[in-house]
Amino acid sequence: MEALVLEQKGVLAIREIELPLEVGPTDVKVRIHTVGVCGSDVHYYTHGAIGPYVLREPMVLGHEAAGTVVEVGSEVRHLAPGDRVCMEPGIPDLSSRASKLGLYNVDPSVRFWATPPIHGVLAPFTVHPAAFTYKLPNNVSFAEGAMVEPFAIGMQAAARARIAPGDVAAVIGCGPIGIMVALAALAGGCSRVFISDFSAPKLAIAGQYPGIIPVNIGERNFAEVIAAETDGWGADVVFEASGSPKAFAGIFNLVRPGGALVLVGLPVEPVTFDVAGAISKEVRVETVFRYANIFDRALQLIASGKVDLKPLITGTFEFKDSIAAFERAAAGSPSDVKLQILLGD
Ligand SMILES: [Zn+2]
Repeated sequence: MEALVLEQKGVLAIREIELPLEVGPTDVKVRIHTVGVCGSDVHYYTHGAIGPYVLREPMVLGHEAAGTVVEVGSEVRHLAPGDRVCMEPGIPDLSSRASKLGLYNVDPSVRFWATPPIHGVLAPFTVHPAAFTYKLPNNVSFAEGAMVEPFAIGMQAAARARIAPGDVAAVIGCGPIGIMVALAALAGGCSRVFISDFSAPKLAIAGQYPGIIPVNIGERNFAEVIAAETDGWGADVVFEASGSPKAFAGIFNLVRPGGALVLVGLPVEPVTFDVAGAISKEVRVETVFRYANIFDRALQLIASGKVDLKPLITGTFEFKDSIAAFERAAAGSPSDVKLQILLGD
């Protein structure tokens, strides 16, 4: 099959590659239609590694995918050829201790698309466990289906926050994940979500959604804005979605007493933060690693119309132009949120 292959750091090629396509009894074979370009794909392209995951041999990129089922294994009951689907890119060992606890996202043996050495899905077909393949509601497009993966991270963050109706949230960082977190927090019951960044174009994209209030921290201090807007009380929930070490200085000034801090962004290096600041307010600190048991809920929210991810798709490329898509993503235009690559029509 012809796939988008990351040969080594900085070198992409569209070329033939042998990929396993045997359909086991609990698998489905999917013809890929749309694949989103993710920051992690781009990081492997530009740096050849993310933390402990190092590219050592050519790897197909892409893990945010939607497509059409073309074949099902003999034991698959809930899907049939012709079904439009999206796929959860992590495949856990279902008999692992983590999976048995419902925490399959932290199963140490999880195999995740486009994380070395596992191939991704920027290719015409993939074979995937049916249990991690989700039928798209009729009113959810392939483009939206391919947005479920990044949105699921926002949903996981909102779930970890244990939002109560009417909560005020603060999101640090207005990148794609920060925006996903803000949308999930609103859908989860927040009355207002303040989101901070230095980038005016990024903030403008987030600010088009009613209920999301952009704060340019090049102009205003985020903690002062939150204090002014909450009578000095603080946000019920603070989401850290920038991964910037600088975000941790004074972070607990944003949180109300007894509130929550949810860590979503991945700092490259260890960071220091103010433990006494957390303790003095008894702040609950939560972490988010990918997602578990979220995809079906994300699809329900999108289908209901409560969450509209379409404005976040800022560029669509044909598969033959997928290297150009990666170059544009690597250039990091602040007015781009999500680029997608089309393999089908
Ligand atoms: Zn992603």
